[in-house]
Amino acid sequence: MTKILSVTSECAPLIKTGGLADVAGALPLALADLGCDMRTILPGYRAIMDRLGKTKQAAGFKDLFGGPAKLLSCCVQGLELFVLDAPHLFDRDGGIYVDATGQDWPDNPERFAALCRAAAEIAKGAAGWKPDVVHGHDWQAGLTPEYMQKLGTDVPFVFTVHNIAFHGNCAADRLDRLELDPNRFTVDHFEFWGQISALKAGLMGASKINTVSRTYAEELLTPAFGMGMDGVLHNRKSDLIGIVNGIDDATWNPATDPNIKPYTTPRGKAANKKALQKLFELGPSDGPLFVLVSRLTDQKGIDLLLEALPELLSQGGQLALLGSGDPRLEVALLEAAAQNNNVGVKIGYDEALSHKLVAGGDVILVPSRFEPCGLTQLYGLRYGTLPLVALTGGLADTVINASPAALSKGVATGVQFFPVTAAALSNAITHMHGLYRTPKTWQAMQRNAMKQQVGWEHSATAYRDIYAAVTAADG
Ligand code: ADP
Repeated sequence: MTKILSVTSECAPLIKTGGLADVAGALPLALADLGCDMRTILPGYRAIMDRLGKTKQAAGFKDLFGGPAKLLSCCVQGLELFVLDAPHLFDRDGGIYVDATGQDWPDNPERFAALCRAAAEIAKGAAGWKPDVVHGHDWQAGLTPEYMQKLGTDVPFVFTVHNIAFHGNCAADRLDRLELDPNRFTVDHFEFWGQISALKAGLMGASKINTVSRTYAEELLTPAFGMGMDGVLHNRKSDLIGIVNGIDDATWNPATDPNIKPYTTPRGKAANKKALQKLFELGPSDGPLFVLVSRLTDQKGIDLLLEALPELLSQGGQLALLGSGDPRLEVALLEAAAQNNNVGVKIGYDEALSHKLVAGGDVILVPSRFEPCGLTQLYGLRYGTLPLVALTGGLADTVINASPAALSKGVATGVQFFPVTAAALSNAITHMHGLYRTPKTWQAMQRNAMKQQVGWEHSATAYRDIYAAVTAADG
């Protein structure tokens, strides 16, 4: 049985800020079904320590970047975990990456270097279980191959890029403190324009690299989307592939979802729509209810939605939105809600409410400027809530645009717009309104959407194939 150590900074259901957590939580379960022995290492943040159940100490470190640390092994909802209990790094209030004021923790380089260092120790056998492959996610896991090299461990490393926008860079004067090999502070390893880059370390140290959709894998090679790493990725192009994310079928299933009034056909959505309108203090309406659940950042195109809002409302539409992030966007959204009876906004992070939005909406909006995969459009498909998405990344790969050809062939599942501008979004909103006014077409699209395979079945096999390829190459 192939043994895989997954290295991640977040993992549902324990700790989540975005899609990475969903993937890190669901993929190991899907791979375990395919016969892999999966373990996951994640930081022992204060917020998770009392939710681990029974733990066992698997290893100890006298001094891990400034303090003692332990590796605890435990099993949470089927996930086999190593939790890095390092109170000097993780036992604090605030967010997992940022403090209470929204600033990055100044010791983030050490915090996630510690995660990587502990992963490398496991790869060497420190926890009594030695993986055949180490699989790191995003920059927080990027330094793992550097520490494996330092410890003389040649376990192959697979690296998944969930979002290239985050590099995990820090100044070169941290080399010592991070216990990195100064001889490898070069363009071929982890030096990036004079800085230490954890993301680059992962990209250069991986036997295979993947990202979370085919289109994003292609986009990453372009200056417009590569965020400065396109050159590095060009050098690794032959080892780069795209594997689209799936959704956790058990958590996101309209027939069994405990947060909603369960349903198996689009007709069952009406009761959820009514409940959602009530929750967001929106009156009844003949028009479609647009919903959006997201981090509120520039990436997500929320400003475009604000610009296109008159179009949405003037044709009888309503908007219910849940999100948190950029304070300027939060204020602008709350103002829009105050000015319009047909706009409801809740600022915050609320897992249960996110399910109610997906179930009760007619349309789920994802107007992102770039989107490596995107999960909420996949939830929308599963729940018969038609996605209106930008034509980029995973949004391009997972939604079938309601073009005349797709409609006549009966395969459309949503609407895509390009370029990613407010004007194109407005046109797409108008298109959605038109489709909504044609119930036969709308219902056919809903049925198509609900039939799409959006679980992990195909993609888990693709990951298993990567593991097989890197272990075969290694052997
Ligand atoms: P990203 O990883 O860029 O944030 P994804 O679409 O891949 O975007 O994943 C976002 C995940 O986080 C989804 O599961 C979504 O439902 C969830 N999410 C985002 N914002 C919120 C929120 N305010 N409340 C609840 N869930 C949220």
